[in-house]
Amino acid sequence: MTGSREERIAADFIVNQLAKFKISPVTSDGSYIQNFSLISPTLDTSSTIYSSNTQEYTANRYFFSPSHLITDTITSFSLYIPEKHLSSTPKFQSPNIILFSPTFLQINSILHQTRYHTSLLHSEPFNNIKNLFIVFTDSSHLQLWGKKIHSYAERLSDDFYIYSNTDSVKHNIIFISYQHARRLFSSDDFTSILTQYHSYPHLVTLTHPLYIQNKYRPHLLRTQNILGLIKGTSDSTIIIGAHYDHLGTDAEGNSFNGADDNASGISALLALAESLSKQSKPFNKNILFTFWSAEELGLLGSAYFTDYQPIIPLNKIITYINLDMIGRIDTRYQKSENANYVYVIGSDKITTRLDKELNLANTQSSNMILDYFYNAETHPMNIYRRSDQYNFLKHNIPTVFLFRGLHPDYHQITDDFEKINFDSISNISKLVYQLIINLSTTVKAK
Ligand SMILES: [Zn+2]
Repeated sequence: MTGSREERIAADFIVNQLAKFKISPVTSDGSYIQNFSLISPTLDTSSTIYSSNTQEYTANRYFFSPSHLITDTITSFSLYIPEKHLSSTPKFQSPNIILFSPTFLQINSILHQTRYHTSLLHSEPFNNIKNLFIVFTDSSHLQLWGKKIHSYAERLSDDFYIYSNTDSVKHNIIFISYQHARRLFSSDDFTSILTQYHSYPHLVTLTHPLYIQNKYRPHLLRTQNILGLIKGTSDSTIIIGAHYDHLGTDAEGNSFNGADDNASGISALLALAESLSKQSKPFNKNILFTFWSAEELGLLGSAYFTDYQPIIPLNKIITYINLDMIGRIDTRYQKSENANYVYVIGSDKITTRLDKELNLANTQSSNMILDYFYNAETHPMNIYRRSDQYNFLKHNIPTVFLFRGLHPDYHQITDDFEKINFDSISNISKLVYQLIINLSTTVKAK
C-alpha cells in the first residue's frame, strides 16, 4: 500500500538489490529514491470564513467547498454574471469573483472539470482567480451542488490524490446560500455587491474584509519511486518500469499480496537489472530501471516522474517498457494448447519502429504469441490507459506495455505466489532482455 511501512520494506529490498547489481543511483541526492508525498483527499469540515463583524462560518455546514481551503484575506470582488459572461471573456479586476444564482448547467461550464477537483479553474479567464464565491438564491440548487461535492469527496477517497509539493489547491471555491452570504458579509458590503451586480465590470471594495482560515490538517502519504541507471555512451535512454505498490489490507486485515499485480513485473525487472548489469560491453544508450509507487492510486508514481521530476529530459527517452501482471495465464488462454503468449499494448502508437523491434526480439528469444487483443485505444477494458506506460505515451514517448491479462484473483486477496506461472515471467524477461540488447546496441542513438 502506498506510503505504508510494508511498502518501505519492499522499497529497501529493491534498493539493496540494485546496489548489489552495481546499478547506479540517479537522483540529485545520489540515492535510488525519488521521494514524493500525496495528500489523501478528505472533505474539509474545519476551515472557516468570517468578516470582522460576523460569526465564523464553518466549512461543510454553512458552505460547501470541493477541496480544502487556502488561508486568504479578501478585500475586493469582481462581479460575474453567467448569462452575460459565459460566452465572452471578461477581464477580472479582482482576484476574487462572486456570482449569483447560477443554474446547474452554468456552473458546469464555469468549472470546466479536469482531472483534479482542485484544478477546476485552470482555464481562462479564471487562471489568476484566487477565490470564487457562488451564491445560490435558490437553495434547492445549493442542495444539488452540496450532493455533488459530497459525491466528489467519496470518489476522492480513491481517485483524487494530490501531490503535496506541486499541484495542491490553487483556488478556493465556495458554494453558499443567499441567506448565509447575507450574514457573512457586513450589511453595507452585501448591499453594494447587490446594487452593483448588474453594472459589471464594477469592482466592489469591501469595507470589512473576509478572512478565510485554513484549519484542515491533511493526511500525508510519504512514498517513493526507486530509480537505478546503467550508464550508456550516449544520453538517449531506454526505461523499463514496473509498479511495486499494491492494495494493503482489506477491512478484515487480510493482506493483498499482489503476486501477479505486480510482484511478477518487479521480479522480471530485477532479473533484467541483474543480467543487463553483467554485460561487459557498454551500451550506446542509458538503461533506466524504474520501480513505481502509487500506481494503484491512479498511476501517480510514474506521473510524478514524467510530469514533475523526469530526472532525464523527456526528449531523451526513446522507449518506455512497462511490465505489469505478467505472471498468470488469463481466462482467454486458460484452455489454449499454447499459452506462451503476451498481450502487447501501445507499441505501434507513436512510431511503428518499437513494434517491429519487439517482433524481431521475440523471434530471437521466447517466440511468444504477441497478442494485440487489448491494443486498441477504444477497447472497452481500457488497458491502454490503465498502467504506468500511459504517462509516457501522453508525452509522445514510444511505449510498450507487456501484460498477461486478467483473472479472477485480480485485486483479490487470492492473488498469491502459488498461482504464478514462472515460465511466463521468465519468457517475458527474455523477450525484454533481447529487445533492450537490440535497442541499446544496434539501433542508432536518437
Ligand atoms: Zn498493476
